[in-house]
Amino acid sequence: MESSLSRIDAGDSSFMELALEEAGRAAENDEVPVGAVVVYEGRVVGRGHNRREALQRPTAHAEIMALEQASAELQSWRLQDCTLYVTLEPCLMCVGAIIQARVPRLVFGCLDPKAGAVESLYHACEDPRLNHRPAVRRGVLEEECRQILVEFFSRLRKKEPSAFSNQLSAEGEGKVLKADR
Ligand SMILES: [Zn+2]
Repeated sequence: MESSLSRIDAGDSSFMELALEEAGRAAENDEVPVGAVVVYEGRVVGRGHNRREALQRPTAHAEIMALEQASAELQSWRLQDCTLYVTLEPCLMCVGAIIQARVPRLVFGCLDPKAGAVESLYHACEDPRLNHRPAVRRGVLEEECRQILVEFFSRLRKKEPSAFSNQLSAEGEGKVLKADR
């Protein structure tokens, strides 16, 4: 008999697939491929991908785009009972937005050693001084989420080798996930 935990796992993976689709849209537009979806009672109420270059907006991260769409859809800034799925560990700004929106649960794919604010640089979702602490699950489709970034940067490196020669290191693409272009 299937446990309730594995059912949750299967649901998380299928929603992360949708976040990966969003990340793919970002890649098609030459944006760092990060995608997010917000799910409320089993349905997607917000989707977004990184559009920082297209919009020339520092806040146009996948999570912000998805949260704003979800708030518009649900007519509420409070996203209670929602889960945010995002392919990459959120940055400090996005964790801030997740906390502001009172999102109770965050699921992300791979770590961002350079800017992640959930585990890598900060543990902002666990800070007892804040009035809201989302539950976190990480590592859902981790390899796929990482791979789309690795492929993007490897393609970019071939296209613009000089622009990246100083930013890429042998330690891995993770260190440059948020590299400025
Ligand atoms: Zn962010």
